[in-house]
Amino acid sequence: MGYSLRYRRRFLPRTLTDLSALVFMSVVIPAVYWFEVYVVAPTVYNQPLNILHTILGTYIVINIFGNFIAIIVVNTSTQGLLLPAQCVSAGTPGWHVCASCESTAPPRSRHCNTCRVCVLKKEHHCVFAGCCVGLANHRYFFIFLCLIYFFIFLCLMWVSTLYCSFLNACLSGPMWAASTCGQWFAWCCRRVAGVGAVPRHPLRLPLLHQRDGCLFMSVLVYYYTALLLTNTTTLENNTGKGNKHDHGRDYNLKVTLGERWYLTWVFPTLYSPLPCDGLEWSQRPAKTDKHKGK
Ligand SMILES: [Zn+2]
Ligand SMILES: [Zn+2]
Repeated sequence: MGYSLRYRRRFLPRTLTDLSALVFMSVVIPAVYWFEVYVVAPTVYNQPLNILHTILGTYIVINIFGNFIAIIVVNTSTQGLLLPAQCVSAGTPGWHVCASCESTAPPRSRHCNTCRVCVLKKEHHCVFAGCCVGLANHRYFFIFLCLIYFFIFLCLMWVSTLYCSFLNACLSGPMWAASTCGQWFAWCCRRVAGVGAVPRHPLRLPLLHQRDGCLFMSVLVYYYTALLLTNTTTLENNTGKGNKHDHGRDYNLKVTLGERWYLTWVFPTLYSPLPCDGLEWSQRPAKTDKHKGK
C-alpha cells in the first residue's frame, strides 16, 4: 500500500535554536541570490548570457524554497494513522510501544523529543526546517540538499570568473592570465606554492566562503546519497543496523523519492507516490553461510 500525503497543522519550530536556524536560512538564501544574480552575474556576463543565468538562478532558488517549505508542511509523523495495537502483543518484528506517545509505533519509526511525535522511517531532526525528516518528506530534504549544492557551485563559478577578471587586471604575463575557472584553479596552485602576490579584493571573502560551502555540501550530498541508495537512515547507520532494508537501488530510490523519482528535481509539487505506507517493512534475507553446519 502506498503513502498518501498528509499535512502538519503546526509549522513553527518548537525551540529557539530551530527558530534561529529557520530565520538564518530564510535570510541567507535570498541574500546570496540577490548578491550573485543581481550584482555578480551582470558584471561577469554580457546581456543575453546574463538573462540566461538570471533565469537559471531564479528557478533554482524558487525550487530550493519550494522543497524547503514542503519539508516543513508535509506530515511524516504517526499521528492520525490507524495503528494496529495487536502487532506489539503478537510480537510482530519491529513494532514497539512509544512511552512518550503512549501508543504503538511501527518498525523504523522513532520518537522525536523536539517534535513530540513518532516519525515514520525517521531520518533525523532538521534544525533548519524545525521539524523531523522522515518517510514522507525525505524526498524534499534530499532534493533541497542537492539544489543548494548546485546553487553554491553556480555562485562559485560566477564569483571566481569575476575574480579572474580582477586578477587579469592586476597581474601581467601569460602565467597569470587566469580568464577561466580552470586557469584560475591553476593559478591557485601556484599561489599555494608561494609564487606571486595579489592585492586584496572584496570578492575574496565570498569566494572563500563559497569554496568552503561547496566542499562541505559535497560531503553532505555524498553521505545522504549513499544512505538513500541503501535505504538506510542516519540512525540505523550509526547503530550498525544499516542495509537491513536494502532491496536494490531501483526500489531504494522509490522508497525515498517515489515512483517518479526522475522528475522530483524539477519541482516539489510534481506527483511521485511512495511505494509503501511506512508501517510494514520487509527485511533483506540474511546471507546464509555456506559452510555453516559443516
Ligand atoms: Zn512517540
Ligand atoms: Zn523532530
